[in-house]
Amino acid sequence: MPPRSIVSRCSPPLVRSLVRDLKPYTPGEQPKIPGLIKLNTNENPYPPSPKVLAATKAAVDGRFRLYPNPTAQALREALARMHRCTPDHIIVGNGSDEVLAMAVRAFADPAIAVPRKGPGRCVVQFFDPSYSLYPVLADIHGARSNPVPLNPDFSIPSLKELKRAKQWDFSAALSIITTPNAPSGRGYATSQLEELCLLHQKVVVLDEAYVDFAEQNALALALKHPNVLVARTFSKAYSLCFQRVGYFVGHPDLIAALHKIRDSYNVNGIGQVAALATLDDLPYYQANFRTIKATREKLSRELTLLGFRVLPSQTNFLLVRPPQYPAETWLQKLRERKVLVRWFSAPLIQDYLRITIGTPEEAAALVKAAKGLLKAA
Ligand SMILES: *Cc1c(COP(=O)(O)O)cnc(C)c1O
Repeated sequence: MPPRSIVSRCSPPLVRSLVRDLKPYTPGEQPKIPGLIKLNTNENPYPPSPKVLAATKAAVDGRFRLYPNPTAQALREALARMHRCTPDHIIVGNGSDEVLAMAVRAFADPAIAVPRKGPGRCVVQFFDPSYSLYPVLADIHGARSNPVPLNPDFSIPSLKELKRAKQWDFSAALSIITTPNAPSGRGYATSQLEELCLLHQKVVVLDEAYVDFAEQNALALALKHPNVLVARTFSKAYSLCFQRVGYFVGHPDLIAALHKIRDSYNVNGIGQVAALATLDDLPYYQANFRTIKATREKLSRELTLLGFRVLPSQTNFLLVRPPQYPAETWLQKLRERKVLVRWFSAPLIQDYLRITIGTPEEAAALVKAAKGLLKAA
């Protein structure tokens, strides 16, 4: 066998050109460095409820040989009770990433099938900055993306501004709005989101990954408007990243379309068990939300006193502009002090660091490291 590199240079390519040119999503690092304070991927610092761990352990037995329920039926029923709708309003995925990918496949045509100009020219549309997975999902599908800048304070431009700037395509096949926004942490009023949804006839997804840390949620819009889907996840607020469970709530017609393209057993069995047990112990999580929000407000005050520009947050993270050094230098220097935060090279946010809200002790360690760095400056 010749070495791989020779094969790939001399043979006709085995991989589609779309895939060869694809820039994949870059997940946050998951380093296993002892003692590292990990504030880079918005994981919850608190473990799942003891009841969730017990239910999960109790499910580890010979049943592993059986397929799980293909539609996560029991989980959808419990979610429907919680959201005051019926299970046909809900589809569960292997994380909300999977339901987002299904939405792109179900609602957006590949670029070759749509006009380059005029209404409907933009197929997958989102604000910039927002969740950096959206353009990757569009690219994978061969669909055209339309990133539209948020205002400099990360608010959504008013309808008047959106119409005047003509960049937002009100007839885009699929518009995805991260609310509260990531990576800025900014929350949006449901009234503003509803005004925007009402001007769309095509599908609007409201990605509420961080909504449990916010003042408002827009779930009612998914039950009221036939073109609106709300995405939720058990990952961030419910300490279940490892299990990969997320879902959409929306009109049964949209949900039925998504079920048609779903992998047969897309949600693993232990994930279904863990998510179901989570819904049985919501007070445990609500107490954690209160602690995380209190830690967020305290950290925000302390970093402001150190000269950081801290943006208002309705999430479990802060976007901050650090003083003295460039943000990328802060990333490295904090890492040397065993605190890992996130930095994005994208032009709109390259002067900022995104810091996950950890425990009060982790937040204190971050502040201590920052003070040390500023003293050394
Ligand atoms: C983390 C995140 C998700 C994905 O969550 P999973 O359910 O773990 O796939 C979706 N949207 C946003 C904005 C996120 O930050």
